[in-house]
Amino acid sequence: MQENKEHTIQKLPEDLINQIKAGEVVERPASVVKELVENSIDANATSIYVELLDGGKQLIRITDNGIGIAAKSLALALERHATSKLKTFSDLEKIASFGFRGEALPSIASVSEFLIKSKPNTQTLGKEIVVSQGKFVSEKDVNISQGTTIQVKDLFCNVPARLKFLKSTSTEYTHIHDFLLSISFYYFSISFRLNHNGRDAFHYKQKESSLKRFEEILGATARDYAPVYFERGSFKLTGFSLLPEKATSLSQYFVTFVNGRLVKDKVIRAGVLQAYQGLLMKGLQPSSIIFIDVDPTWMDVNVHPAKTEVRFSDPLAVQELIAIGIQNSIKAEINKTLFAPTPQPQPQPQPQPQPQPCRPAAPTQPFRMKNNYEEEIKAPHLLKLKTSAESFELPKPTIVSSLNSIENNTPQMLFQEPKKSVFSQAKYLGQYSNCYLILEKETQLWIVDQHAFHERILFEEYTAEYAKHSIIKQNLLTPTILQVSKRISDIAEEHKEKISSLGFETEILTNANIAIHSYPAFLAPQKIQPTMEEILNKLIENEQIDETQFYHLFYATLACHSAVRAGDALNAELVLRLLQRSSQVDFFAHCPHGRPVIRQFAKKDVEAWFLRI
Ligand code: ADP
Ligand code: MG
Repeated sequence: MQENKEHTIQKLPEDLINQIKAGEVVERPASVVKELVENSIDANATSIYVELLDGGKQLIRITDNGIGIAAKSLALALERHATSKLKTFSDLEKIASFGFRGEALPSIASVSEFLIKSKPNTQTLGKEIVVSQGKFVSEKDVNISQGTTIQVKDLFCNVPARLKFLKSTSTEYTHIHDFLLSISFYYFSISFRLNHNGRDAFHYKQKESSLKRFEEILGATARDYAPVYFERGSFKLTGFSLLPEKATSLSQYFVTFVNGRLVKDKVIRAGVLQAYQGLLMKGLQPSSIIFIDVDPTWMDVNVHPAKTEVRFSDPLAVQELIAIGIQNSIKAEINKTLFAPTPQPQPQPQPQPQPQPCRPAAPTQPFRMKNNYEEEIKAPHLLKLKTSAESFELPKPTIVSSLNSIENNTPQMLFQEPKKSVFSQAKYLGQYSNCYLILEKETQLWIVDQHAFHERILFEEYTAEYAKHSIIKQNLLTPTILQVSKRISDIAEEHKEKISSLGFETEILTNANIAIHSYPAFLAPQKIQPTMEEILNKLIENEQIDETQFYHLFYATLACHSAVRAGDALNAELVLRLLQRSSQVDFFAHCPHGRPVIRQFAKKDVEAWFLRI
């Protein structure tokens, strides 16, 4: 029972409200730096200087050369809900500045020893105001250059509970350092300088492009990144993403901006991770600095200022666009180096024989058909479609897609004039260790992992058909029956659509068995059952799997099973056929599990091994 005593209701005093607000906005020194730096950016500063003592716990001083605050408004800027950035509610929809609530300055001032001085270029003198733990102390004119300086000493001196939760100097410093470094990637035209305990940590100069700033920050390692560029309607993605072969088990950067705002968002993160699917070996980490520009109506900006996530109206679409944009950019960059013309050989005393089109180094061995992979290489699955339908008396294959796309996707149409293969000017020298194909391309030495290569080719072929919704289904006159438990048939039922998109039409029978009525036509009939079991296994292991992960995993496994293995001796004829297949796909530099497919050595690399140069 509550005591029946009268409660007196009072309005909270202003400084107490500010301290409560400070609890929301200011968590640690880094949040002060974030608020103040964002104010400087909003004020069009082109130079921002951050000085710290003791990780910002003792002192944070930020000096900018922005538009400044007029002397008559300076006191007002320290009052709650005083802002120059928002006037009407409709402004809120298209707000482009960081701040608009007018809460940061009074909050910070209420929990520190605070000083602000500012001068717009319209005044000859600037004004300075000193505030101690939220209470006005003094005000005077000062002779300073244009811009604003804010000094925050002894943060949380009057909030022991907060003070207790501050971490070590180095932890607090790292938070500030990482924030400032991250923000520097985007605001290339602003000079950022960070000084800790009297020593400069960095001083980035004004640059004319984000690429220049990126190179300034990363130095030589900038070359390990692919430039990202992707546009679809009002969605634009730019930035830099680590080339898979430079990846380590440490994630160096995961910096993302949406419309100029530094965010940490799980949708974006999922998109970046999805982009690296099939490019990165297990255990290696991606690294990306990504700038996303979208129509502001795609998202809700009115989220809490201290929160760093975004609310997209269609998160899945955004994730997909990020994944495609980054992956395409990485692949394009890898292909660029793969297809780059090699430097012309230096003039030699002896005339060099012209490189021959890819030709066997040894006499061709008599061809013996033994394993499936040989069959696969000799007659790629696309070719098999026609012959299988004709030679075995199976019902005519149907194409899983709408009527009008059938015309464009007939098996014959898939055989376009072969594009020029990157290997067409290469000389095949032989197989090493029954695993690696050794080639000479112009002046370079190329080593190709045969399994990874074949796996990627198959994977690309399968997924291209899948993406075009043109998986060709082969109907079965008598269904193949799979005897499974009730639990497994439930899973099959639940994912019926996903399974069908791969070309398998299934039906759950009353006794819980699964009847397979059709299968993807590229599959050999004896592989129907093991493949279906494989699909079900994947679904059991990954219950939450989404559609892209699902088909990636499935086709990667299928490709792995059908590809030539490491350890298989290949005759030259097979190798040449296999290499030619590269012209049919857009990308083959990594296997679907991320393993690199090809290593290229310049002649000078090889010469350096033998100390010839
Ligand atoms: P908000 O940024 O939400 O408007 P703040 O409390 O952070 O609220 O700042 C209050 C106001 O003070 C801003 O609207 C702006 O007019 C002014 N201001 C703050 N910092 C600066 C600065 N570095 N340069 C110029 N004006 C500033
Ligand atoms: Mg602000």
